[in-house]
Amino acid sequence: MEDCIFCKIIQGEISSDFIYESDTVVAFNDVNPIAPVHILIIPRVHIASMNDINSDNSMIIADMVAVAVEIAKDKGIEKDGYKLLIRTGKNGGQEVSHIHLHLIGGAPLHEDIHSL
Ligand code: AMP
Ligand code: ZN
Repeated sequence: MEDCIFCKIIQGEISSDFIYESDTVVAFNDVNPIAPVHILIIPRVHIASMNDINSDNSMIIADMVAVAVEIAKDKGIEKDGYKLLIRTGKNGGQEVSHIHLHLIGGAPLHEDIHSL
């Protein structure tokens, strides 16, 4: 998708180090981390938001969650815990219109919904 920053990252037009990549998803560090571990897991295909998820494509969400858990274990943050977050739309605070799962952890997270 033209003008989608995350599609550009997938296509290598914007540089980012992939922490993980598979046929369906890639993961990379958030450029503006709010915790010691702050990683974004995104589908390779452009899906604008959760509003575009349906029974035909919902497996991509399962892929993203499975990768997030794998990375959490790889980073050693699974025992203390972490947060998985998908923002949706204006009221959800979504800034990039390409679905992304935030993996946030490595320190206690306060419950300020505006910052997290
Ligand atoms: P959201 O507010 O849920 O849409 O989250 C968008 C996230 O993308 C924010 O946490 C940004 O810091 C992050 N972000 C934006 N541009 C980049 C980039 N080029 N590389 C990595 N993360 C980015
Ligand atoms: Zn995109």
